[in-house]
Amino acid sequence: MIDKKVLPYGRQDIDEEDIKYVAAALGSDFLTTGPLVEKFEEDFCKYTNSKFTISCSNGTSALHLACLAIGLKKGDWVIVPSITFLATANAVRFSGAEVLFCDVDESSGLMTPNALREAISVAKRNNFRLKAVISVHLTGKPVDLASLKTICDLEKLILISDSCHALGGVYRGSPIGACNYEDFNTFSFHPVKAITTGEGGAVTTNKKEYAEKMKLMRSHNMERKKPNNGWWAYDMHSLGYNYRMSDVQCALGISQLKKIDNFVSKRETLVKFYNSKFGKLAPFIKTPKNIDRKVINRVGWHLYSVLIDFDKLKMSRENLMKKLLDKGIRTQVHYIPVHTQPYYTTRYGLKTLPGSNKYFRKTLSLPLFTQMKVAELEYVVEQIYDLTS
Ligand SMILES: *Cc1c(COP(=O)(O)O)cnc(C)c1O
Repeated sequence: MIDKKVLPYGRQDIDEEDIKYVAAALGSDFLTTGPLVEKFEEDFCKYTNSKFTISCSNGTSALHLACLAIGLKKGDWVIVPSITFLATANAVRFSGAEVLFCDVDESSGLMTPNALREAISVAKRNNFRLKAVISVHLTGKPVDLASLKTICDLEKLILISDSCHALGGVYRGSPIGACNYEDFNTFSFHPVKAITTGEGGAVTTNKKEYAEKMKLMRSHNMERKKPNNGWWAYDMHSLGYNYRMSDVQCALGISQLKKIDNFVSKRETLVKFYNSKFGKLAPFIKTPKNIDRKVINRVGWHLYSVLIDFDKLKMSRENLMKKLLDKGIRTQVHYIPVHTQPYYTTRYGLKTLPGSNKYFRKTLSLPLFTQMKVAELEYVVEQIYDLTS
């Protein structure tokens, strides 16, 4: 048996080197708006092979900055998958625009090209002024970006990829974040994500005008005047925000980013191990397996989410989760379909999205974090065997 602590579904991986970087930043001249912000952004551009990185306070503000950069406003509509974290939809609402929830594939939880086409036809039937699509690489598994991009081009829609789950992945030969198909990629550095800065986020883009707009917007939209008007002078033409990430956070980000490939391969190993162990439990449990390696060269696994047929099993998910927690294993559900949240049903009514509902009924995320030991993983598998047989 392993020690008494509860296994979380995800957690950070901080070492002595990270602590040294942060301590050095604390002793430097700049705690914020200093050189480490630029350094982190440069490193992030290099890692993701993107032209511009705008660091910001978290993954939610990253999404909001992308919405601001494209000038979303009241009366605009944005397509968002229903299976995602609340932030993906909420950021659209921050900008005053409306959310059109899109269904997902019932076995992967991802927005498919067909689901997107269906959502677009709903928008057309209702005469919605459609502006953009936000796709989500749920659990780290990339959506079919190339096909989504083709559809977006045809319909003149901006494509934003919420890549908060997928940092470290490689899609069609390029790192996630490269913006080969998307106008923006957004990232979160919350402790459960691929790398952490405590709280933190970033947007990547290859378009200079978007990058400049987001830089202004993350700092009150203060436009510095030409030097001959005085170095101290600035104009503000519209409202901006304080969405900055500090030098202290960026110090941690710089240090964490050096280790990301190592983090990703540890997660890959754990996922492979889980998949091999759960083979026996089919047909109750479906593991995340069907990946076309020619298209998806590497997955930056954020979550290990399995699909369990609780009806066949004759046990509720609630019950299984409780029993697992009694055994020291914390599981999680990613996610409750956002379109069923009271805020959104009040706004748009309760829509039926069958793929989202089917995925939601079966999904369960098991512990997955870089420092997880093989013995801990085996323990999780054993407990699930015992409770389901
Ligand atoms: C974590 C996450 C966010 C929000 O990130 P925060 O840093 O917590 O604001 C947005 N979208 C997805 C898909 C996420 O997983």
